[in-house]
Amino acid sequence: MSLDHFLAQQLTDTKKAGLYRTFRTMESAPKRTNRIDGVEQLVFSSNNYLGLAADKRLADAAKLAIEEFGTGSSGSRLTTGNTTWHQKLETKLASFKQTEAALLFSSGYLANIGVLSSIPKQGDLILSDELNHASLIDGCRLSKADKVIYPHLHMETLEKQLKENMQYNRRFIVTDGVFSMDGTIAPLVEMRRLADKYEAYIIVDDAHGTGVVGESGRGTSEHFGVLSDVIIGTLSKAVGCEGGFVAGSSILIDYLKNHARSFIFQTSIPQASCASAYTALEIMDSDKGHLERLRSLSAQVRSGLTNLGFNIRGDETPIIPVMIGEADKAFLFAERLQAKGIFAPAIRPPTVPEGESRIRLTVTAEHQKRDIEHLLQSFYLIGRDMKVIGREKNFV
Ligand SMILES: *Cc1c(COP(=O)(O)O)cnc(C)c1O
Repeated sequence: MSLDHFLAQQLTDTKKAGLYRTFRTMESAPKRTNRIDGVEQLVFSSNNYLGLAADKRLADAAKLAIEEFGTGSSGSRLTTGNTTWHQKLETKLASFKQTEAALLFSSGYLANIGVLSSIPKQGDLILSDELNHASLIDGCRLSKADKVIYPHLHMETLEKQLKENMQYNRRFIVTDGVFSMDGTIAPLVEMRRLADKYEAYIIVDDAHGTGVVGESGRGTSEHFGVLSDVIIGTLSKAVGCEGGFVAGSSILIDYLKNHARSFIFQTSIPQASCASAYTALEIMDSDKGHLERLRSLSAQVRSGLTNLGFNIRGDETPIIPVMIGEADKAFLFAERLQAKGIFAPAIRPPTVPEGESRIRLTVTAEHQKRDIEHLLQSFYLIGRDMKVIGREKNFV
């Protein structure tokens, strides 16, 4: 049998299981609207929370850096790929996260892999939230530590698991800061208390928290006033660029430089990416307008949908999952939104549990009042027609 024949058979199974995925093509810059497969749509599913991904100031910074330094960094950080721009961005990241130091990775995915494959060792235990991001799960798989999973945000179970596992050398609590499919925030105050009580360390993946939660957008540490032992982040969401990072103590960063294989054996990100991310962080530090707008718009969507009778999940974040139920129904709901010019995907099993299919909305600072009105009105009409909400609700 040819390899293609074998793979085609596998794909048939993928399709039968309803798990077959295809691309949608974005034909313009990542703004509030985008031409998607030829049709202009209002985008309510992007991670470009602060609207920085198509900001001219970031593009100008990248252009200048390309002219001066070229397009590729040409080596790993430990060979020829460590430039003034990488160091400048790391200093900026450490100051943004208010930690001693920071280290760039090529992506958030690789930062998670690097941390989890190098820090928890055989004889250690990883305690992991059941809804953790795939990159944390993959990192855990690469670690020789034992693993135990606790129900989403369930601190009683976490405490029980910690208490029962004091024989391990070290215990690592691993969690998303803001959960990508649920918009929930990890309860770091209680986690810190448990970590201190049971001699454990906290590793937080703040991919959706960075730039979004906390008084000035510094992430979940700022939101709770609690420091985690290892903070992982990405430059690809609110920061609007690409690349990942780890922030923490100088010793942590020194250790990762020497032991994280996804750091050591990879070419560093281009200087132009560092320059645009640096500019984004400067904007985030000096102008809180984007963040305030993001918060106010997210709150409007949350309260608007709740008032219409929708069942929404999550904390005060721009990630707003609207529960629909059955997978087919959620799929149809998303299609009908698209017919009204709104692009927001249905999230179905196995990404979420059976019967918990949803429309995952994300709000960005770029959305306008009329976009929110159109979104709410469309949800109202479709929701009523599909009996997701009761008929007695009136749109006001
Ligand atoms: C997006 C995401 C990542 C991966 O970050 P990239 O920089 O895109 O590789 C990691 N963790 C979480 C929770 C994410 O949402």
